[in-house]
Amino acid sequence: MTLPTDPAANLAALIRCASVTPAEGGALSALETMLKPLGFLVDRPVFSEDGTPDIENLYARRSGNGPHLMFAGHTDVVPVGDEAAWTHPPFAAEIANGEMYGRGAVDMKGGIACFIAAIARHVENNGGPKGTVSLLITGDEEGPAINGTVKLLEWAASRGEKWDASIVGEPTNPDALGDMIKIGRRGSLSGSITVSGRQGHAAYPQLADNPVRGLITLVDALLHPVFDKGTKDFQPTNLEVTSIDVGNPATNVIPAKATATFNIRFNDTWTAESVQAEIHNRLDQASKRKKYRPGKKTPVDYDLVWRDRPSHVFLTRDDKLVDTLAGSIKAAVGKKPALSTSGGTSDARFIKDYCPVVEFGLVGKTMHMVDERVALADLETLTRIYQRFIEDWFGQG
Ligand SMILES: [Zn+2]
Repeated sequence: MTLPTDPAANLAALIRCASVTPAEGGALSALETMLKPLGFLVDRPVFSEDGTPDIENLYARRSGNGPHLMFAGHTDVVPVGDEAAWTHPPFAAEIANGEMYGRGAVDMKGGIACFIAAIARHVENNGGPKGTVSLLITGDEEGPAINGTVKLLEWAASRGEKWDASIVGEPTNPDALGDMIKIGRRGSLSGSITVSGRQGHAAYPQLADNPVRGLITLVDALLHPVFDKGTKDFQPTNLEVTSIDVGNPATNVIPAKATATFNIRFNDTWTAESVQAEIHNRLDQASKRKKYRPGKKTPVDYDLVWRDRPSHVFLTRDDKLVDTLAGSIKAAVGKKPALSTSGGTSDARFIKDYCPVVEFGLVGKTMHMVDERVALADLETLTRIYQRFIEDWFGQG
């Protein structure tokens, strides 16, 4: 039996499955076909919740005698967009000029394809890792992410699974393979502020209370002063006002309500709770200011609603995990990767509650774009990096 040692062949099989969230599209079956000959036991739990589509996930375990390494990722992909704009069809895995085209090529079927090839080579050359390796693969990362990684982790943990370290195979490199490992992520919070005033004639403002003036006062307080100047491992905390809505078509009417929505990305100076407290405090202080509301005796009448669940900030401090991965990268590409906490949130924020986690995968330049593609050379290099990492982390190098 031939083992799945070729990352390009593995990736082609995965790209040909049209697994746009929430469809499984055959992608998990393709994975199962690759993993079984390598000695993995494969489970494919389906999770449900009212109001969201049922999602099929995959957990594969190759048991051994030693520490437990988990590789995490997703086989679902974002929609193709304008299919006619693709140079090569999005689910065909066609190769041109040394690159394979297809939705999910880098985000992140490619990362999974390379990790499986790395394990397959290890099995072929060394008989496989002496410890335990598992793959925790969700079909719900790009969608609502309700029936995905969170439930899959709970499901596996409830069956007694314990992990010593995890790698998430998301595309972490901005320009070239080996640029960047993500060792943490900023936290994220969103909220909406609605200010209520009194509608009236724009020529008689003393008879009205313009909520736009109040909203500007509050938004100003969220933007100044800055929350912090950044830390050793993180960028400065940043708040963006993402929308201001009044919905008033008339130029001579003072509206009754105005709403602003904001998102804040915060570093390890803060927790989600302390950021919320700071924002409440700033708004309460600002509501009493007169700068934009001369003559008004009452504070700005506002409501703050937090949207969605907060994402918590985290930083992985596990020298064995980070140093082993950085060393494997240096051996393959000749340079040390940056250890970064930049960018958006990922499923690593859920895994960090179970074990130390880092993220390293392909080059992200074309993710979510038309003509998403990956260099075949990158697939080979990433496979060699994962292979070296597995050997060194399990102490079999
Ligand atoms: Zn992804």
